[in-house]
Amino acid sequence: MARPDVMVIGAGVVGLSAAIAAQARGLSVAVVDREGPAAGASAGNAGAFAFTDILPLASPGILKKAPKWLLDPLGPLSVPPAYALQIAPWMFRFWRACQPSRVARSTSAQTSLMDLSKAELEPFLAATDTFSMLRKEGNLQVYESEEEFQASLPGWEVRRNHGIEFQHLKADEMAAIQPGLASRFTRGTFTPGWYSIADPKLYTLALANNFRSRGGVIETAEISALRAIPTGVEVVAADGKLRQAGKVVLAAGAFSHRIAKTLGEHIPLETERGYNTTLPADAFDLRTQITFGGHGFVVSKLSTGIRVGGAVELGGLALAPNFRRSEAMLLKARTFLAGLRPEGGVQWMGFRPSLPDSLPAIGSAKATPDVIYAFGHGHLGLTQSAGTARIVADLLTGRKPAIDLTAFSPQRF
Ligand SMILES: Cc1cc2nc3c(=O)[nH]c(=O)nc-3n(C[C@H](O)[C@H](O)[C@H](O)COP(=O)(O)OP(=O)(O)OC[C@H]3O[C@@H](n4cnc5c(N)ncnc54)[C@H](O)[C@@H]3O)c2cc1C
Repeated sequence: MARPDVMVIGAGVVGLSAAIAAQARGLSVAVVDREGPAAGASAGNAGAFAFTDILPLASPGILKKAPKWLLDPLGPLSVPPAYALQIAPWMFRFWRACQPSRVARSTSAQTSLMDLSKAELEPFLAATDTFSMLRKEGNLQVYESEEEFQASLPGWEVRRNHGIEFQHLKADEMAAIQPGLASRFTRGTFTPGWYSIADPKLYTLALANNFRSRGGVIETAEISALRAIPTGVEVVAADGKLRQAGKVVLAAGAFSHRIAKTLGEHIPLETERGYNTTLPADAFDLRTQITFGGHGFVVSKLSTGIRVGGAVELGGLALAPNFRRSEAMLLKARTFLAGLRPEGGVQWMGFRPSLPDSLPAIGSAKATPDVIYAFGHGHLGLTQSAGTARIVADLLTGRKPAIDLTAFSPQRF
């Protein structure tokens, strides 16, 4: 494509969804990715459309749990010593975002993006021939003590106030939903409005195929810089090749800030590295996704296997993965789920693209309205992909976005 109306950088779930939404508005679109579709976090995530997860991670609750978690080097939250200095400014911003007034604002913004994403999801799946990949099996959040359950109640009240449906359960009621759960889990909360995708990698690849089938082009190139030019944007590749487009959507996940920097913009994007192990599909008879919140991981049922993982490692983009984290979560899952067979798993680490206030950056670059940012979705990029795509298409075509974007402004820091 000589000079597309729109060039999307990044063929993850966010970039491809935005590319398809732009195509649907009649724009010619090219996607560029340094590796090809589904190379990043979109491939190995837990596959949840966590629409009920409206509370930002940056919250007073996490500040209470963090000190205990940080004591366990393989626990739910870790900061490798080699990255502690670099991550400090981000952690300071995260801490500031935990102030109650800011949490209330983030929750309300997150809810609006969740509601939009939920409303957009099914039409988007239908339009991209991926509807058969949608699962509506809910999520079971489990607690090990009455104290842990009681501590979760204020959060559930906030969700109730935002219209989210859930049921608090006792052990026998949980057993009816999920047999095999260890007796240490005495309470739980089931959210039926939590959906999932059969397999996040297959879904992202299916979006890539759908995009191509509508005339879209996906090129392989590493993009190193963007420049505003009178007719739009010049896109500079690491090999020196120049491309031009009327507009650019920057959706390069956890690497996006490096490219934004070439437009003179500093965005405090960091990565929350996450780990998992995908076991064969018959490793356990899983009926719903289970969240072991006190241990920072989930067990998800995919068409391709049982995925055990989560955790947050604030370790940047360059350190080698520490797969002992995957092993530690799998070891726990064995003791939490009677009969789970841990053999034959495949380990994975991915880079969640995270901003300190747990909200993504969606909006124009400071340097030019022709570059639109769509990154920083943290733990929720799959969940918010269809809503983000709708907003990006609105911005590309000069329509008023479906929700107020103030809280998502890339310039808010
Ligand atoms: C363990 C784990 C579990 C998760 N579970 C869930 C979940 O259940 N539900 C949910 O909603 N979210 C979940 N997430 C988060 C979710 O995976 C991410 O938010 C989402 O995938 C981000 O999508 P993206 O398209 O922005 O980025 P990515 O999928 O990372 O895609 C970015 C793309 O940009 C490309 N790229 C990078 N730099 C360049 C460059 N310079 N030039 C060209 N291309 C470039 C990369 O190759 C990559 O393909 C999870 C994440 C992890 C790690």
